[in-house]
Parts: sequence; structure tokens; C-alpha cells
Amino acid sequence: MQVVDLTFKISKSSLFALHPFVKNIQVDRAYSLEVEGFNISKLSIYTHSGTHIDAPYHMVKEGFKLDAFPLDKLFGEAIVLNVNVGEYGEIHAEHLEKALQSSKLEVKDGDFLLINTMWWHKYYDKRYDSEYLAERHPGLFMDAADWIISKKFALVGIDVMSIRHPSLAPKYTGIKPERVHVKLLSNNILIVEQLVNLDILNNRRVKFGAFPLNISDLDGSPVRACAFI
Ligand SMILES: [Zn+2]
Repeated sequence: MQVVDLTFKISKSSLFALHPFVKNIQVDRAYSLEVEGFNISKLSIYTHSGTHIDAPYHMVKEGFKLDAFPLDKLFGEAIVLNVNVGEYGEIHAEHLEKALQSSKLEVKDGDFLLINTMWWHKYYDKRYDSEYLAERHPGLFMDAADWIISKKFALVGIDVMSIRHPSLAPKYTGIKPERVHVKLLSNNILIVEQLVNLDILNNRRVKFGAFPLNISDLDGSPVRACAFI
């Protein structure tokens, strides 16, 4: 069995590839080998920095928080669809349906869906910056969210920083919270964002896990996401 790491590695030199809202990350040395006799660092990170999971409470007032989801809801069988619609590309139900048809995969109730738009390649290219990566990525519209619900997926993962199309951000529409997230999250479909390394999984059924920090009351968490093939 091979473990494929689908997690973006955060480092000082990779901060340009995090969303502007969540890239102010700090790692401070709290105790040191020289003074206390041990190294312990203090992390300051957002719950949605890098590869992360959204709990319903992220955008639904009475929604479940992350600790309502035991690990067996975060590990399961996923189908991986290649939906390469390009920069600022719109992802509608028809794109997902077409990708599913060409994958020749069958959807079972409770499957996870991983969407590879190929945008993740740009996180390794320093010609891009945080604003561009967050504003110009492809993304889903409402009919795509409805399609995901109709197929009874339990979790959806995608390589972009936010699953909805950038034009649907509240700063452009005035609608908050944003409706694609709300539609999925109010149906208790968990969302994993900013996955990487998906290409070798295209059109495959794989085992997938995304494991958050075990802290109470969270709206989301960085995860170590991986596929087992
Ligand atoms: Zn998020």
C-alpha cells in the first residue's frame, strides 16, 4: 500500500500559496534546549490555513462543530474526478456529471468526492501570489453543490482554497454567508480545501482520510490529508 500525501506543506517560503485571510502564521520558540532543556514551539495558525477541513459551524449558525465528527466520518472511499476548467473556470453540475461519466466510476451512497482542478500546481510556482491564487481559481456554483448532494456524497475535497467560485465571495455579491458552502455544510457534507498531489489519483477510487486536530468547538482545522492506494 502506498500513502499519497495530499497536504500542502507550509513553510516560510510557501506562504505565498496560502489564502490572504489565513497566511499570517507564526512559529515561535517558546522553550529552548539551551534554557529549559527542551525545544517547544508555539504555533499561531488559522483553522483554515493550508490544507484544511470546514465543519458546518464555519458558515451555519447552529451547525455541527468539528468534534461532532468522529474519525470514521473523516476516512472513507473517495472517487477522484479531473475537472480542469482553467483559470477562473466555472464548475457546474454538467462538468461534474461529464467528469463522472468519463471516469467510468460508480458512485455509492456515502462516498467522498475529490475534485482535481489542477490549480494546485500553481502553489509550487513562485510567479504567483496569494491574491491571484485566491481570486482567480476555478470554483463551484450552486448547481454543482446540488449535484453533490443528489449523489449523496458525505465529504467533498478540492484543490482550490475555497470551494465556491471566487465571484461568489461576499465582497462581490453582498451575500453572507456564501451559499455554496452553506448548501453543502447545512447538509453536513464536510469540505476539504487546498488539497495537492491529486493527479495520480484521477479517475480512481481510493481510500482517503483527512485528520484534524482533536480540539473542541472548532469551525475547521488544518488536516493531514492522504490517500491510500
Ligand atoms: Zn475553509
